[in-house]
Amino acid sequence: MKKSRNIGWLLLAFLVYSFSVDANAQRLKCKEKKSVKRLNSHISYLASDRLEGRSTGSEGEMLSAKYLAAEFQKIGLEPKGENGTYLQEFTIVTLRISDPSSHLKIGEKDFKLNRDFYPLSYSSNSASVKADVVDCSFGIKSKDRNDFENLDLQGKIALINASSPDGIHPHSKWTAYHGIQVRVDQAVKLGATGVLFYTNDQNMEEPSGELAVRMNPSNVPVVYLKRSVGEKPSGLVDIEVSILTDSDEGHNVLAFIDNGAENTVIIGAHHDHLGRGEHGGSLSTEGSEIHNGADDNASGTAGLLELAKRLVKQKKGTQSNNYLFAAFSGEEMGLLGSKYMVEHMPIPLDKINYMLNMDMVGMLDSSSKTLVINGVGSSPSWLETIGLLDKTITGIEKVKTTGSGIGASDHTSFYLKGIPSVHFFTGQHPHYHKPTDDIENLNIGGEVRVLNYMYAMIETLDSKPKLSYQKTKNDDANKRRSFTVTLGIIPDYIYDGEGLRVDGVRDGKPGQRAGMKDGDIIVSLGGKSIKGIKDYMSMLSELKKGDLKKMQVRRNGEIIDLEVQF
Ligand SMILES: [Zn+2]
Repeated sequence: MKKSRNIGWLLLAFLVYSFSVDANAQRLKCKEKKSVKRLNSHISYLASDRLEGRSTGSEGEMLSAKYLAAEFQKIGLEPKGENGTYLQEFTIVTLRISDPSSHLKIGEKDFKLNRDFYPLSYSSNSASVKADVVDCSFGIKSKDRNDFENLDLQGKIALINASSPDGIHPHSKWTAYHGIQVRVDQAVKLGATGVLFYTNDQNMEEPSGELAVRMNPSNVPVVYLKRSVGEKPSGLVDIEVSILTDSDEGHNVLAFIDNGAENTVIIGAHHDHLGRGEHGGSLSTEGSEIHNGADDNASGTAGLLELAKRLVKQKKGTQSNNYLFAAFSGEEMGLLGSKYMVEHMPIPLDKINYMLNMDMVGMLDSSSKTLVINGVGSSPSWLETIGLLDKTITGIEKVKTTGSGIGASDHTSFYLKGIPSVHFFTGQHPHYHKPTDDIENLNIGGEVRVLNYMYAMIETLDSKPKLSYQKTKNDDANKRRSFTVTLGIIPDYIYDGEGLRVDGVRDGKPGQRAGMKDGDIIVSLGGKSIKGIKDYMSMLSELKKGDLKKMQVRRNGEIIDLEVQF
């Protein structure tokens, strides 16, 4: 009897258990449906033609900012921008061109702008300096070479040969020092008030005279004397640089959940996109269509509103931190909004616990359900937490991680300020930075899973002390790697098999001209086998323009031989 009664109880317990699990699942499903509905409505608006692709400084970007502010207010978040509003405004430079008043005089000789010399991108916008030049050879300071040794640069103009001891090509021993910026920075560190580049190397390509707008310029004038002048400057030099700039205003949107906690978590996503490609960045080969940026990054922006709603409603289990929601602008122009924010924080940086960034979270692969989390090296807690999260709760089957805190999105700005920061990403795709990045391609149900995952992470970290920060390993490797050639493909970062799977092939680039197709898997290049993205990158960094290389791809299980002209 005892036994049977026990079985009876067990049976009853089981029935109650399965009923409540079922009810839970039902409730979740219903909740998720509502979530999908809201995300869909946010993304429909943000990625509509009306917002013209949300280019920083445009009317469409302002509409997007206003929409977000109104939504944050509806949900019940406090404004945390300027003057009691949700907005944080910053200036972006949209054009830089040399003013004709710029001049260069060496001794008594006047040189003509553009014909003889031009300012380089890294030059300050306006400056004039008159001083003797000091010959700094190639301007290299490395472990086994110091061109600045015993030189007094204080108040002087550094004269630097734009080439290197073994020329400018990918096999040079000095590739890490080819950049204008590293050499200028070194000279300025030693007191130089201006830098004059020249070269007598007939084989190198002269530095570009186009003044990039996506650049944090130096604070000294930097000019290049063209090779055609055929002179190595000496003596007294007079440089005046004046660069005309045009600017616009970008708008971050900042909203706050105050739980009265000591520390604050930042949840961010950029809300700007490429507009019609007016500031560059488009991968489209046709005219100036609207780039709606549904995945990039209306998906992440809508995710902010959804997570904010959840964190306001369900305070229990998330109250050990405050939450600062940040929709950045200027991301597509070089992380400008987040860079501005970290310099103008509404909450001191040392009170920030960690940062979660969403950039492109709308295209979770429906079969592999793989989520990418970048930057997990920025704190020892990330991998530990990821290990704790149960995939069955969140509906994410697999998590792929990368370590470096430096990446191509806004978490980088926070990482560089010493904040543990990660980036959630559902992977590359052929619509990336093209006018076809529309809502029809999105897996919004998949985005709900990503948000569930993030929410579970927030809950898990709620009971933990403030995360400790650590510098990530590959910082230098990321900065130094430079390529002079491109294949023009979009790698599939999610692909797990051997080789490098290609998500998309760009029109008119070497890969397409060689006959590559979307979905090809590169298995060898230049006689070396390609096991994954690392092999591919290291092979690419050895190639130079004009190289003709054999390549093998696997297409529908068959090996196909191609020849690529770089
Ligand atoms: Zn993006």
